[in-house]
Amino acid sequence: MIERVGYHQYRLSAHLWLSSIFVFAYACCLLVGLGSCSPKDKTESVRVDPRPNIFLITTDSVRSDFLGCYGNHWIKTPNMDQISRKGHTFTAMYNQSPYTVPALASIMTSLYPQQHNARNVLLEQKNTATATISSEIVDLPLQEKVKTWAAFMKERGYTTIASVGGFTVTSAFSGLNSGFMYYDQATDQLFRSGEILIDGIERQLAAQKNQPLFCWLHFFDTHFPYQVEGPCSLLYQDSRYVSILPKDCQYDRTRIQNITNEQNPVTAVNQTIARYAASISWIDTQIAQVQRRLIRQLSPKRNFMIVTSDHGEGLIEHFEFFDHGLQLYNTTTRVPCLFSFGQQVEPHNSQVINHVCRHVDLWPTLDDYLGYSRAQDDRTGRSMKPILDGTGVFSEPVLLEGKVVQAKVPETRNEAIVSDPWKLMITHSENEVRESLYDLNDDPGELLDLAGKQSQVIKELKQSLNTLKQLKSEIDDSDVMLTSQDEDTKDKLRSLGYLGD
Ligand SMILES: [Zn+2]
Repeated sequence: MIERVGYHQYRLSAHLWLSSIFVFAYACCLLVGLGSCSPKDKTESVRVDPRPNIFLITTDSVRSDFLGCYGNHWIKTPNMDQISRKGHTFTAMYNQSPYTVPALASIMTSLYPQQHNARNVLLEQKNTATATISSEIVDLPLQEKVKTWAAFMKERGYTTIASVGGFTVTSAFSGLNSGFMYYDQATDQLFRSGEILIDGIERQLAAQKNQPLFCWLHFFDTHFPYQVEGPCSLLYQDSRYVSILPKDCQYDRTRIQNITNEQNPVTAVNQTIARYAASISWIDTQIAQVQRRLIRQLSPKRNFMIVTSDHGEGLIEHFEFFDHGLQLYNTTTRVPCLFSFGQQVEPHNSQVINHVCRHVDLWPTLDDYLGYSRAQDDRTGRSMKPILDGTGVFSEPVLLEGKVVQAKVPETRNEAIVSDPWKLMITHSENEVRESLYDLNDDPGELLDLAGKQSQVIKELKQSLNTLKQLKSEIDDSDVMLTSQDEDTKDKLRSLGYLGD
């Protein structure tokens, strides 16, 4: 019925339809959730370990400014908004790379990309037969010898389970399965919907006995090309919501031609942004399902839940056209992060945390709350508990790295350092290396480059950046194992926007 409604008709009654669609979508989610609650009593009755369950939910490519709890007024995210109201909202959480595998690996290892080495690298290979050197950009998976959060929790008696939605997060491509006893994935698909991910975890919960859970879900629905279906897909198509494309902006339509047939460039971009927004509202309903179908089956009183994103998404700002990875602006590096502590875990009171924080700090923070010893700790992250408890300060600079820029030139990787309130970016282009400096307090959009006026600040930031770059790798070159990508794999990556043609 909805599909028969013409575009103009839809525009005339946008408010009514949006409301109806949301009621319908949430009613559907509620019915699915209610229908799957039968194991509840049985699961609770045998669970005897008092330690809290850990739920880590990562959403791919979600910008914080597209969430209601971060001030967005037109995108509906009621579930994440509620988590924010009851829990803790980090307004300046940074990833360590705006690229999926290195970003997630930094969460899972509490190490920077140059330390865990699950990153995008330029490899030079010598062909002895022809006496030539060829270079290729490849994505390295996380190696088993690097200790992960999941492996650590498994050693402490936790059942470690994960379910991931994207091809790039599969075990062979990413190595992110390290430490998980059960890793639900689909190697023959580019993408799996969030609903299927929750199904996979729910099946595992039914087999649980009395061990606490460390559970990770990586939702991929919000990754380009923003695959959202059903009622949510019609949200926000009224173009009055978004209009950020300058009139004289030139862009390559190729990237969005499978999303919209619209020929007017402004409308085409707005429709693509609308679909991205719709995918975020859809994922919000799936987070409600995690709470309803998974967390409440266990014990609502004993759960830590973290909701964050691996990176954001450039929506034509800063020369990023529905993409992420190369540039290091806040659009892709400052990410949403919400903590929910459950009823029996301190601290209860809701807070907004404005300190600059890092993804590498998540694991040490949770360890701190769980009371696990940090003796001989070789992780880079630090516990954020002092700022959550109000008992101390937290001031750690953030190192950021992008993908390799050009295959022909070694060491062409964009990098940046964030040290409140400054961000220094070092950006490579074909013929130059450029430094730019932004005051993030006064200029959160990073539009006014102050590099020409703050030489002393730049000098100090470069010293900090070079110190952080000295952090040693956990991996020797001899440990690096490459699996060459076959044509099928390359096709899959290409369709997700990972490889250039
Ligand atoms: Zn990603």
